[in-house]
Amino acid sequence: MTQSPAATETEVVRRPALSPSRAGDFKQCPLLYRFRAVDRLPETPTTAQVRGIAVHAVLEELFGLPAAERVPDRAHALLAPVWARLLEERPELAELFADDSEGQDEWLATADRMIDSYFTLEDPRRFDAEARELLVETELASGVLLRGYIDRLDVAPTGEIRVVDYKTGAAPREVGEAKALFQMKFYALVLWRLRGVVPKQLRLMYLADRQSLTYTPDEAELLRFERTLDAVWQAILRAGRTGDFRPNRSRLCDWCSHQALCPEFGGTPPPYPGWPEPDAGEETVLDRAD
Ligand code: SF4
Repeated sequence: MTQSPAATETEVVRRPALSPSRAGDFKQCPLLYRFRAVDRLPETPTTAQVRGIAVHAVLEELFGLPAAERVPDRAHALLAPVWARLLEERPELAELFADDSEGQDEWLATADRMIDSYFTLEDPRRFDAEARELLVETELASGVLLRGYIDRLDVAPTGEIRVVDYKTGAAPREVGEAKALFQMKFYALVLWRLRGVVPKQLRLMYLADRQSLTYTPDEAELLRFERTLDAVWQAILRAGRTGDFRPNRSRLCDWCSHQALCPEFGGTPPPYPGWPEPDAGEETVLDRAD
């Protein structure tokens, strides 16, 4: 039996996939993975996360401007309309600053400082991005479907690929660095499988502390990483069948929204709802604004 293209596309989009955020969650703490991907407990965004969404959107729009216009003043001018659009899309965000207009002013000032930080790390007038907020998806030989969003993809005239990720989070760089590198290797593997080229450079831009970290992956490392992802996915499926998602206490618990339900903090998780189909790997806009 043949399927129509529309049916095939629907099937592909709806298949459970592994995203770097959810894979990172499971590696950090299987119970955190359960709360986010299985129970799908709501998380109230922090002001830092919403600032991340806004700064990511500003930088995305910046690369949509003609190269000569990609200057700090233009970028700063994008912030207010971006914030207005976010509020229109998600009016509940206004509650973050209810009765605290000074808080909102300081929040916007910090976002402006991050935009300034960005310009100390590179000059966006000197190159074009091939893609921004790029959804990538590929299936490994083992059948694991990988899916994620890349902040920015640069391709040199010689064909060399650079993957760029903006980090705006409040967590100190050293706390999140292993997770960030995991995420970047994930993208490198997906791009290698999609384009047949190992990205030349993975670049993390930490806007809060004006630092960037670059990394050059190689094939042998990405093959090892592929086996790691297969193992992570198998472990997720095993836990999904049994409901045995164990807490793993670490320094990163400070950034977990679910301490009240976590046995490590005296809480009790809700009854296991069973393995979800089909969206176990979906990333949210908050994931992409870390
Ligand atoms: S508080 Fe820590 S141990 Fe508990 S679910 Fe969150 S990350 Fe896991």
